Amino acid sequence: MALNIVMLGPPGAGKGTQAKRLAANHGVPHISTGDMLREAVGAGTELGKRARAVMEQGGLVGDDIIIGVVRERLAAADAGAGFVLDGFPRTVPQARALDAMLEGRGELCVLEVAVADEELVRRLTSRRVCGQCGTNAPVPGPGEQPPDRCARCGGALVQRADDREEVIRERLRVYQRDTAPLLEYYGTRPTFRRVDGAQAPDLVAGDVGAAVAALERRDGTGQA
Ligand SMILES: [Zn+2]
Repeated sequence: MALNIVMLGPPGAGKGTQAKRLAANHGVPHISTGDMLREAVGAGTELGKRARAVMEQGGLVGDDIIIGVVRERLAAADAGAGFVLDGFPRTVPQARALDAMLEGRGELCVLEVAVADEELVRRLTSRRVCGQCGTNAPVPGPGEQPPDRCARCGGALVQRADDREEVIRERLRVYQRDTAPLLEYYGTRPTFRRVDGAQAPDLVAGDVGAAVAALERRDGTGQA
């Protein structure tokens, strides 16, 4: 059976890292729509130009553009045995379009990496980046102090302007507002699983792996 997975999670939950690990462990592509859009913008493709125009206005790329991008990507040969989608769907119309794309391709498993707002605020406000070489410093665990020098070049670490607490709280508010309908759309499915993302990354990865294994067993036997 194909391993079709959507990963959901707020900014700071570590969803991207988990999506990459899961995809690597199962030999399926990690499909990050954010990365794809950035690449398209960088390469100056037709899609990139359209996306860039929208992003420069401060907007989100519309459903039609992003659905087209995902449809094309999922039609590629390497996605035939499955995929881990990261950053898509973001809206219910996108989720409906994905269901339509997957008709006849096996079940869709949806994993939510859930983390409480206060922990997300702690993680995101303690993010630091090197002022000299741009490397991201590792985010400290609860109770740990952020490092003050870059491990790569020794440069001073600084906080990005959009990692200030009020900006982060606004981002989380927007995320909750946009994602609540999506969780409602997926949440009652037997193939939906929520994982505790407040744990250390290795423990989260263990829970993600266990959730997927349980869903695969369900696939094979027809029961949860
Ligand atoms: Zn550095």
